[in-house]
Amino acid sequence: MERNTVDILGYGVDTFSFDQAVDYIVNKPGQIVTINPEMIQCADKNSELKSIINSSQMVVPDGIGVELGLKILGHDVKRIAGIDLGKALIKRIYYLKKSVALIGAKQDVVENAVVNLKAELPDLNIVYYHNGYFDDDAEIVKELTDKAPKLILVALGSPKQEFFINKIRTLLPDSIFIGLGGSFDVWAGTVKRAPVLYRNLGLEWLYRTVSDPRRIKRIFPTLPLFVLKVIKERLSNK
Ligand code: UDP
Repeated sequence: MERNTVDILGYGVDTFSFDQAVDYIVNKPGQIVTINPEMIQCADKNSELKSIINSSQMVVPDGIGVELGLKILGHDVKRIAGIDLGKALIKRIYYLKKSVALIGAKQDVVENAVVNLKAELPDLNIVYYHNGYFDDDAEIVKELTDKAPKLILVALGSPKQEFFINKIRTLLPDSIFIGLGGSFDVWAGTVKRAPVLYRNLGLEWLYRTVSDPRRIKRIFPTLPLFVLKVIKERLSNK
């Protein structure tokens, strides 16, 4: 299977289905970016982030914003939630009897995420984990390169996680890296995931904003501005 990407505002997004994405990255490891309008807004002002995104092994549309944007541009690509892709990769790695590492979140959160993952998949080989609050990453980089986990889940929030992964990905060419934002908080049970009904309707963002109104800054004006930009691009391409 080969990659097929479509462009949205200068960012290449993969058109894989969920299952294809898992199969592809297991065979061709590298960095997975779960892209959303907020990340695009940030990368528009940060060329290094933009080049990290566009040189990663896979870019999946995480959420309704990018899915809608792609639709406006005439591309029918279904969204892939990073948290679901992360979990599916853990399961695949588990069946392949390979190893996993988790980097990110607060100490108790990452610890509880590890406990809960192990409760679900008893022999899951978690060879290393570390919280996401560190100034010096030398020890973490050493542990990761020594243990060479097949799957490295990084939940530092964006764009911190994308920069961290970019820094270490060449040291571990056989590993799969995915930036997972707040997923460890969900796996730890600290934060509740939106109910399935919200997810199916593409309203996960609404649930998260109502649960934590401070997140409103992330949606407004980013989301409407993003949609306007995409419409402008669509009109200029006609
Ligand atoms: N985080 C971290 N180190 C930092 C800043 C944040 O490990 O220096 C963690 C934070 O504890 C949380 C996650 O990164 O678990 C960010 O979650 P957020 O909801 O902001 O991510 P999003 O999914 O919205 O990108």
